Amino acid sequence: MTARARALITLVLFLATAFPTLAQVTVIKAGKLIDTDRGTVASNQIILIRDGKIEDVGPSVSIPAGARVIDLSKMTVLPGLIDNHTHLSDGVFESDGDPRVVLYHTKSDDVLAAIPNLRTTLMSGFTTVRDVGTYRALNDVGIRDAIARGDIVGPRMYVAGGYITITGGAGSFSGVSPDVQLPWDMHYGEANSPDEVRQKVRLFAAAGVNEIKILSTGAVLTHGSNKQAQEFTPAELAAAVDEAHSFGLKVAAHAHNAIGIKNAVRAGVASIEHGTYLDDEAARLMKEHGTSLSATLEVHECIAGNPATPVDFQQHNDGIADIHYAGFRRAVLAGVKIAFSTDVPVCPYKDAAKEFSYMVKYGMTPMQAIQAATVGGAELIGVLDKLGSIKKGKLADIIAVSGDPTHDVKILENVEFVMKEGTVYKNTGVVTAVQ
Ligand SMILES: [Zn+2]
Repeated sequence: MTARARALITLVLFLATAFPTLAQVTVIKAGKLIDTDRGTVASNQIILIRDGKIEDVGPSVSIPAGARVIDLSKMTVLPGLIDNHTHLSDGVFESDGDPRVVLYHTKSDDVLAAIPNLRTTLMSGFTTVRDVGTYRALNDVGIRDAIARGDIVGPRMYVAGGYITITGGAGSFSGVSPDVQLPWDMHYGEANSPDEVRQKVRLFAAAGVNEIKILSTGAVLTHGSNKQAQEFTPAELAAAVDEAHSFGLKVAAHAHNAIGIKNAVRAGVASIEHGTYLDDEAARLMKEHGTSLSATLEVHECIAGNPATPVDFQQHNDGIADIHYAGFRRAVLAGVKIAFSTDVPVCPYKDAAKEFSYMVKYGMTPMQAIQAATVGGAELIGVLDKLGSIKKGKLADIIAVSGDPTHDVKILENVEFVMKEGTVYKNTGVVTAVQ
């Protein structure tokens, strides 16, 4: 090799390293494109993507020379989906319906078991999640950061770090004998006064979480819990919201019974998780306060249908599905903001998109359900400026399906193309060419 050839190769390698984005101009030809901001569908659109961002979109965008062209002209293209209620960090939990399975594993086991689930979630079309708690506090922070660094493949995560709960309450690690000493991270968020709640919010904020998860009422999937118990007082909830806001964090409140829902809404939380016993007054209050509902409708059948579910969890779940579905319908009719939410892995990670069918069955149009999983989620997380729709300046989180999900929402259970921030992770049978 001549010195000149060597110099040329060195230059090319230098350029590729220094300017890796040079080759990253991508164009997507979209047969149909869902405008989630307006709730409409446009035909034959061109999306121009540079450096992971959407540079332009429209019917007559010119295609730069050398651009990579992804032909989705026979498909429906929409923004990457956002699941607003996941637990991606508890990888060992999916195989076993009992949280105590965590005790049979090390913290490392739990994190490593999450890796295939993170991939499954992304490949299902969920490019972003709001992850609302882990049995081992702060595992989610490390996982979020590993994905952001590109060390592992998964959705963009906004994490809570753990659960702020009363001792023995919905978010506590229960069902263990009182003489067993749990590790610090299984009771990190326990708080029993407004001041203790503030201290826990400060701990999570210092650990770099993206939102605060507080348990307003009892739970279904907690040993010894009574979902009708109020748990946190209005003063404690108000302290959580006030302290979280001082760090610029929103609060997600787990709440089943109507009193706990209303207490949390009045305290100013951003979202009610589950909202099982949501009544007319709760719906009115949520509408008034602009509170989102993260309903998690699909879980009831999974809890009932999983033979591994502990008997007490089955009993907590008995008879509440129809009440929950009615509460959801009430919220939709009242105009409450809805954010698509699954509570995976209560149902398997791969089945997250089945939630769409429940949302449509119980009151939403397919387009409304899609908006709940895009702009609805982006608004709740507070990232509407960069996620939720395919618009100039936003991140290139883009998925595609065969068929039109605004007519049949079940189509979203089979996402065939996934791009996150300009990088293609899944491309099933789609022609890719360089223009
Ligand atoms: Zn949950």
